[in-house]
Amino acid sequence: MTSTDTAAVPTGRAAADALGRVTAELSGALGAEQVITDRQRLRTYECDGLAQYKVVPGLVVLARDADDVAAAVGACARHGVPFVARGSGTGLSGGALPQAEGVLIVMSQMRQIREIDAANQRAVVDPGVINLALTRETTPDGYYFAPDPSSQSVCSIGGNVAENSGGAHCLKYGFTTNHVTGLDLVTPAGEHVEIGGKAPDPPGYDLLGALVGSEGTLGIVTEVTVRLTRLPQEVQTVLAGFRSTDDAGAATSAIIAAGVIPAAIEMMDALSIEAAEKAVACGYPAGAGAVLVVEVDGAAADVAGELAEVLRHCEANGAFETRIAADDVERALIWKGRKSAFAAVGRISPDYIVQDGVIPRTALPQVLRQIADLAAERGVRVANVFHAGDGNLHPLVLFDDAEEGAAERAEEVAGGILELCIANGGSITGEHGVGSDKARYMPKMFTEEDLDTMQAVRCAFDPDNISNPGKVFPTPRLCGERPGRRQGAHPLQEAGLAEVF
Ligand SMILES: Cc1cc2nc3c(=O)[nH]c(=O)nc-3n(C[C@H](O)[C@H](O)[C@H](O)COP(=O)(O)OP(=O)(O)OC[C@H]3O[C@@H](n4cnc5c(N)ncnc54)[C@H](O)[C@@H]3O)c2cc1C
Repeated sequence: MTSTDTAAVPTGRAAADALGRVTAELSGALGAEQVITDRQRLRTYECDGLAQYKVVPGLVVLARDADDVAAAVGACARHGVPFVARGSGTGLSGGALPQAEGVLIVMSQMRQIREIDAANQRAVVDPGVINLALTRETTPDGYYFAPDPSSQSVCSIGGNVAENSGGAHCLKYGFTTNHVTGLDLVTPAGEHVEIGGKAPDPPGYDLLGALVGSEGTLGIVTEVTVRLTRLPQEVQTVLAGFRSTDDAGAATSAIIAAGVIPAAIEMMDALSIEAAEKAVACGYPAGAGAVLVVEVDGAAADVAGELAEVLRHCEANGAFETRIAADDVERALIWKGRKSAFAAVGRISPDYIVQDGVIPRTALPQVLRQIADLAAERGVRVANVFHAGDGNLHPLVLFDDAEEGAAERAEEVAGGILELCIANGGSITGEHGVGSDKARYMPKMFTEEDLDTMQAVRCAFDPDNISNPGKVFPTPRLCGERPGRRQGAHPLQEAGLAEVF
């Protein structure tokens, strides 16, 4: 990838001048309808789903196609102006947080499903296509798009790719990365590049793997080729009530140890059940300290056996009530409580932080106890609702911003939870990404050399650090810097045979 025809990123007054030149260029090339400069309208884009971080973008470009994206990125590259891609703005880690002296390139007008190739189980879509829209379009042919974030009715497939998003059913079907076979990318130099296609597993380096989950730091995705998954013949959904999260965690481990991979195993604790009951009256078992929602799907003959195993392990681990959804209406009611849980905590707390961390599944009971101890120590309430099957926690840290110091205490608890995840062999994010929010935690998980190696990849795509800068990495690496302890120029560089970039 070349970095020719690009400028060093200016700062201060020069940055404002550079943005002015990009604005003039793009207003001329794309027209006033697609280029937003009015401050009131710019404010619409000042944050994503993590609303505590806000920056009014310097300029917003509403792209209609890949050429518009390339025009906007190309202008940024020529003038050294940073840019940020935005899908639907539902991200929970501040990934689409704009730059005050930069350009926000918005994908919401790129929403065409270009091709449905059911025979080959592929679809080709614009990046702004809403996740659920693809499933709705392919269901009549017997297919769907498997990654199912809870935000699937509003989030974009481009955003799913950038975050490697998951959802309740990723336990069996995998994350977005398992469902993308090709991408078109506009590189940070403004070039169009095609990576992969409909065929699986092309030879060479796995650039697709590097791009999925790169949070907009390697360029802007302008087209996505995805795998379509066959709708299962049979689905069975179980709701099981337990006295404690320990029991529900033990049942989860027992089900998976028995060789059953349910499509989903979701857990809610007492506080999140209370919130969901208040919000949507889901009628979960009274007095439950935890519930599991377990779904098994597939060929009818297999599902019957798996359902029996799930019930057996729930009961053996203390489930005092189990219900099997009799039809789609009952299934929807069981899922309603789980799916409403994030918003429902608004019924029991004026403010809350949604945390996202991962732990090995078998560590669930001990980590949930450690979280409870941490919360009690700091006088903060934490509701737990999460993808238990793959150990992806979503603790909701509750607080009242009107109370002095409450937000800070909640932040401390949210950070402490990530430290518990790392200490228990897990990770600081399962599916919401690092973005602006968690960059500061990266050094707790990775050494300086690890971070340098990751940034060497970024530098290969984006030597001028203009593609979503300031996200993922706590300290940006200048791409001319040498990582690690090596001192002096590399011998190949001294010999004029290679360049460090
Ligand atoms: C209520 C709620 C529930 C949620 N539940 C889940 C869940 O279950 N699982 C889950 O994984 N997430 C969940 N999320 C988080 C969020 O919906 C996902 O991360 C989603 O994939 C973001 O998509 P988006 O279109 O809103 O992206 P945005 O928020 O607009 O952007 C997210 C990141 O992607 C980059 N980006 C966007 N489009 C492109 C592109 N075309 N090319 C390159 N980079 C791009 C942005 O720069 C940014 O870094 C939830 C969010 C909410 C509000």
